Amino acid sequence: MKAFASSADLAAKEQTLEVLADGVYALTAEGDPNVGAIEGEDFLVCFEALATPVAAREWLARLREHTDKPVRYLVLSHYHAVRVLGASAFDADVIVAHEHTRALIAERGRQDWESEYGRMPRLFKEPASIPGLTWPTATFSDRFTIELGGGRGELVLRYCGRGHTEGDIVAWLPEHRILFAGDLVESRAALYTGDAYHREWSTGTLDRVADLDANTLVGGRGEIARGATGVAAAIAQTRHFLRVMLQEVGDVHARGGTLKEAFQAAHAALVDRYGGWPIFEHCLPFDVSRLWDELSGIERPRIWTAQRDREIWDELQD
Ligand SMILES: [Zn+2]
Repeated sequence: MKAFASSADLAAKEQTLEVLADGVYALTAEGDPNVGAIEGEDFLVCFEALATPVAAREWLARLREHTDKPVRYLVLSHYHAVRVLGASAFDADVIVAHEHTRALIAERGRQDWESEYGRMPRLFKEPASIPGLTWPTATFSDRFTIELGGGRGELVLRYCGRGHTEGDIVAWLPEHRILFAGDLVESRAALYTGDAYHREWSTGTLDRVADLDANTLVGGRGEIARGATGVAAAIAQTRHFLRVMLQEVGDVHARGGTLKEAFQAAHAALVDRYGGWPIFEHCLPFDVSRLWDELSGIERPRIWTAQRDREIWDELQD
């Protein structure tokens, strides 16, 4: 039997800090969550907070080799624990997120914390350093613009529709055509869709992401996509993964099959292309479970709890 989710994935990943343009930074980590930072004239905008303050401080130490500007804005792309619970380390003046993200933290932040800790314990470096849930202090519904000053242009936070969650946002630097896409796009990493809206994500939401016409894209996990061709490939990979799931799970659902049959069909259709990519086996049971609900007319994703995680895992991943 397979070890639960990523509970047996305990080997440290190599972190790489890349300077994408003057004052624009990304830290990738071999399939672990990516983070970024953008310099304003006399302040920093940080994108994503990692899972604990201790993990976030290690990222900030790397960033401090390049700039000592204070963090004015911490941007959270969505509510998932491994993206938000390190927030206190940034000492940011403003924590920005979509209004749905704030509502989701209030509704299910505590359960999500326990669920993600059980699934990915390695990401929670010194979990006792987490002071509690992270609360955004500024929210928006469509667009939030940060003037960077000093001839650095602006950073535009955009809502592109429901996708990986109900409240994902992207951070767009039109000056450099650099996009921080959060978990709406993965580049050579498997998708987590356990809290997703597959039909909207695979159509209009990804269309709006693609319409930005980025030349560099930092996805939620995986390598940085470079050039128009690389960006298109990352978006196409994300869309393909979703479409295959919709096709395979949809067929089994339509003929009155079982959730387990849907899981086996989706696994068989995806494993050759995606099976070797980070967190594929970990995510797929939760992904198929959510899609099954979506196809059954359950509008909003059910709340994952540590207990529900184990039940689905035992039912499907044996
Ligand atoms: Zn996520």
